[in-house]
Amino acid sequence: MDIEKKVKDLNGENGYQRVERYDEEQTQKLGENYRNILEIIGEDLSRDGLLKTPERVAKAMQYLTNGYGIDPSEILKSAMFREDYQQMVIVKDIEVYSLCEHHMLPFFGKAHIAYIPNGYITGLSKIARVTEAYARRLQVQERLTVQIRDCIQETLHPLGVAVVIEARHMCMIMRGVQKQNSITTTSAFTGEFLDNARTREEFIHLIGSKLA
Ligand SMILES: [Zn+2]
Repeated sequence: MDIEKKVKDLNGENGYQRVERYDEEQTQKLGENYRNILEIIGEDLSRDGLLKTPERVAKAMQYLTNGYGIDPSEILKSAMFREDYQQMVIVKDIEVYSLCEHHMLPFFGKAHIAYIPNGYITGLSKIARVTEAYARRLQVQERLTVQIRDCIQETLHPLGVAVVIEARHMCMIMRGVQKQNSITTTSAFTGEFLDNARTREEFIHLIGSKLA
């Protein structure tokens, strides 16, 4: 699924065509709770615009947390190939959309991921799908970064893995707790990227990050 379609899905512009993915019981239970929330915050549930909101939010929430049902290592294993290539493989600018587990508000940005193969490579799109599988859960950016690293390390057993995520957190921006629009950067490395400063610097240079 391409990013554009995903954004449309998030905006509801595709009309949630993949209805079969929504558990009816979950939709109903979540919907009831969202109805309560709307009442508690003082909304008028009979307003036209709100009639279907509880059900829509219930489906949106299921979509945004559908990573719980996915085993990310299986994504990598589904396209794992024997290959002697031993140079750095980088996937830059993977779009990340997640929900912070403290406020259940979005954080979003980009992930840059590299690994140095040790006999096996994987499909490049699989790296993005692993990122998505972990992002579609309640998260903190630090754990998301480490989970992606560990999944690639433990599944492909490469010579090293590097993950950098740069993201904006709506709980900071909307609530004005800290400087607006500030970007949080997290990183996690294994193997060559930890042991060899030049490899790490090459990666950081190639992704164009301001990370020192
Ligand atoms: Zn938060």
